[in-house]
Amino acid sequence: MEISENISLQALHSFGCNEKASYFTKIDSVEAIEKSIQWAKEKNTPYLILGSGSNILFTKPFEGLVLKMEIMGIKKLKETASEVFLEVGAGENWHYFVIYCVQKGWGGIENLSLIPGTVGAAPIQNIGAYGVEAKDCIELVTAYDTQTSQFITLNNADCKFGYRTSLFKMEKTRYIISSVQFILQKQPIFRTEYGAIKEVLHQKNNKQPSVEAIANAVIQIRTEKLPDPKKIGNAGSFFKNPTITKDFYEVLIAKYPKLIAYPITDDIYKIAAGWLIEACGWKGIQKGNVGCYEKQSLVIVHYNNGPGIEIYNFSEEIIQSVLKQFDILLEREVIIY
Ligand code: FAD
Ligand code: NAP
Repeated sequence: MEISENISLQALHSFGCNEKASYFTKIDSVEAIEKSIQWAKEKNTPYLILGSGSNILFTKPFEGLVLKMEIMGIKKLKETASEVFLEVGAGENWHYFVIYCVQKGWGGIENLSLIPGTVGAAPIQNIGAYGVEAKDCIELVTAYDTQTSQFITLNNADCKFGYRTSLFKMEKTRYIISSVQFILQKQPIFRTEYGAIKEVLHQKNNKQPSVEAIANAVIQIRTEKLPDPKKIGNAGSFFKNPTITKDFYEVLIAKYPKLIAYPITDDIYKIAAGWLIEACGWKGIQKGNVGCYEKQSLVIVHYNNGPGIEIYNFSEEIIQSVLKQFDILLEREVIIY
């Protein structure tokens, strides 16, 4: 186990803020997880797991040990006439894994193409896009429980997956995910109900969608609409879409007929947070090094290498203005340190 000291986190997260970590190590085996946590416990120093840093904002130096997840490997465990069971190392790149499955014609995660990050982080906030969530294909998650110092295997129900959340997000830093088991479908049911996907498939005259056609449509939509973190600092959607009661929804829609909302149950509506932020006048606004992205106001962008606290303060201004205008409290999706 090699521990480096006083390491810059700038290249290790997609906002690119120039904060430092006191200690840093790479994790390329399950043994390395145990050893590193043991080291942190003996030193009585905090720790955090870093995948590719695409959902994290550092607002100050991290005075502890950063464990960069690099456990690799995609292993086929079982194949039946209709399904394929795969075990994937937590450090594998998510999009690489999606394309690996797409090229074999295995369906289930094609709508989740081009999401940055590692496979091990996918269960953390139950990544989702275009009507599909990681939980739809996850069978088991193997993780190191830092409270009991043991590896455990959790089934789908144990993971308490919800909308952009899970047990792992609720009990931040307790579990270190080492691998994830997925079930992919050989005759998948395609999820094309999202307007943008329908539109692209229609433009391409794709009457019989395939795993590959959907992945390509998603890649096209995302490339056109979202900022590339390699070119401009961001962590995707900064806020979660809030949910409100039907009664409150009816009050809002009467006042704002253009409000974008989707029913979740008979009594609960999901409101497009991007619409609320845009309605408060934030779309395209820049203050110092930070801005609200001009093509999608749910994304906060970082133009230079300014401090992370500027991004946090900007997000707080957005929260307060949405609260004032709509009486809705936005919750940050990005993990703040
Ligand atoms: P990190 O940012 O490194 O970590 C995120 C959190 O997970 C941290 O709390 C970290 O401690 C924890 N963590 C990471 N790995 C482990 C592990 N192995 N064990 C335990 N804890 C761990 N998200 C979506 O859901 N849908 C989208 O469509 C989407 N689009 C995006 C588009 C862009 C342009 C960007 C920049 C981000 C987008 N995101 C999206 C957010 C992000 O890509 C996902 O949340 C992704 O899963 C983060 O992976 P990561 O490896 O970068 O995690
Ligand atoms: P969009 O298509 O402009 O839609 C705006 C919002 O409306 C989305 O947040 C989406 O909710 C919701 N929505 C749209 N069509 C829907 C439908 N048919 N049924 C239910 N809800 C619907 O969104 P976008 O910003 O371009 O993003 C496209 C997809 O990628 C979304 O699923 C989004 O979550 C995902 N994405 C996520 C991140 C992130 O960092 N978390 C970043 C970029 C994109 P949902 O968000 O619940 O799907």
